[in-house]
Parts: sequence; structure tokens; C-alpha cells
Amino acid sequence: MNKLIYFIILIVMGLFLLYVFQNEGIDVSKEGIDSYDLYDEHTLILAELENELAAEERNHIHNESDSEQDYRSMFPDLYAVYEFPDKMESENKIAYLTFDDGPSSNTFEILDILDDKNVRATFFIVGSAITREGEGALRRMVNEGHVIGIHTYSHLCNEIYCSVERFLDDYNTVNQQIYDITGKRANIYRFPWGSNNGYSRGIKDILIDEMNRRGFACYDWNVDSNDSVGRPTAYSIRHNVEKDLGAHDYPIVLMHDSDIHNLTVETLPEIIDMIRDRGYDFDTLDKRKPYIFEW
Ligand SMILES: [Zn+2]
Repeated sequence: MNKLIYFIILIVMGLFLLYVFQNEGIDVSKEGIDSYDLYDEHTLILAELENELAAEERNHIHNESDSEQDYRSMFPDLYAVYEFPDKMESENKIAYLTFDDGPSSNTFEILDILDDKNVRATFFIVGSAITREGEGALRRMVNEGHVIGIHTYSHLCNEIYCSVERFLDDYNTVNQQIYDITGKRANIYRFPWGSNNGYSRGIKDILIDEMNRRGFACYDWNVDSNDSVGRPTAYSIRHNVEKDLGAHDYPIVLMHDSDIHNLTVETLPEIIDMIRDRGYDFDTLDKRKPYIFEW
């Protein structure tokens, strides 16, 4: 009898357990359904996110093309009148002396030497270098027939080469500054470190195009005095000019006008005599075709 009771209890417990497992089974499959729904929900959220990203990307592209238009419409006074010298008039060879980075404490002495030697040259001016005395130097340049070109306001690679807009903003400042001081508009320029430098690589072509569009002519150089490289001597500066000069009928000679370039000033009279002895006349760069490095 007892055995029968145990047997019945076992069957009841068995049924009970079966019931519990079945319910759990239902719960599990319910969870399955829930996670399926959840999966669906995730897919939906992901799809929405993707849509949003795509929309943002379209917006971004749209904004970029907007800003492309923007820099063109910015600085409405930043235009130049430049007459392209379609041929170089003279039958003589012509050398173009250029001085970058001034004005400086050396500018007046350079102007004295040029005056003494009856030579016209080109000065690529840095706006932030213009002191009160420098203003006088700029006016003297114009009065004595030299030409002023623009070499940016800050001459700082991280300022001028981070975007087209920043370059134009900087350039606009010095352009106005030179006009206010001299009453003349500059129409030629030289990039700090030349047109082909490591800092502007990403925007170089856009910059040149935009500056062309605004009427400014760009000039690199083809004879480097290397007065800013290593430890130059008066001899090395003169020698560097002399060795590359002969390869060009219209050499553009790079030199510097800054407080530290005393050696350039010291050797300038000899450089001028040497160039003249080799049969070159001198003129200002605006009379020469624009020149941009090909490399
Ligand atoms: Zn420079």
C-alpha cells in the first residue's frame, strides 16, 4: 500500500516537473520572440542611424561646396589689376633681384645700395614685420621705383596654410596694409617657402587658382642665394648666385631682407656688379612673366 502511495506521489511530482519544464520552455521561446523583436528594433535603429549618417554626409559635402563658393565671395576688395607681360621686351638678358621677409633694420641700407647702383628690385613684404620705420621704407621703395609684392602677413605656416580662407584672410590684411601705407595696390606675391612647400600641399593648387582668379601673379625664383640656409658667408651667397645665373636669361634671384641678413647686405654691391658684368640688365618682377616651380 505504501509503495502505491509513493508511486502516486512520484507520478504527481513527475507531472508537476513536466509542467514546470514546459512553462519554462514557453518562457524561453517567448524570450526568443522578444529578442527577435529586439533584433528587429536594432535593425530599425541601425537603419535610422545609417540614414542619418548618409544625410549628414550629404550635408557635409553640401557645406564643403558652400565654403568653396564662400571663399570666392569673401574679401570682395581682394582683387588686383595685373597686366600680363606677354613678352619680355628687351633683347638683353634681365635679372630680377628679390628680397623676401622685410622690411627690417637692413632695408634702408639695401635701398641705399640699389640707389647707388641704379638698380630696381622687388621686395616681398611681410605685414607683421612692418614697424613705423618700416612704413617709411615701404614708401621709399615705391618712390624709388621698386616694386612691392606680398609675402603674407604672418609668415606662419600653421596660420596661412590651414585653409584657403585663412590664407586669403591673412593676405587681405597685408594687402590693405600696403595700400594704406603706400597708396599703391600690390599685384604680385610669393608664397612663404615658395609655391611648392610641404605645408600647403593639400591646398596649393586651389590657392594658386584662387589667387590667379583674383588677378595676383605668383613668383617663385630660379636662382637661390641660399642666404637663409645653413651658415652662409658673404662668399657663399655671392657664389650661389653666380653659379646658377648663367642658366637663365631672365633669372629671379632670391635673397632676404631681415635683421639677421647682414651678410646679404654686405655682399650685395658685389652681386650687382657681378650680374652686370655678365651682361644682365635689372628690372622689377612685375615686368616679367609669372614664374612658378614646375616640381
Ligand atoms: Zn619668407
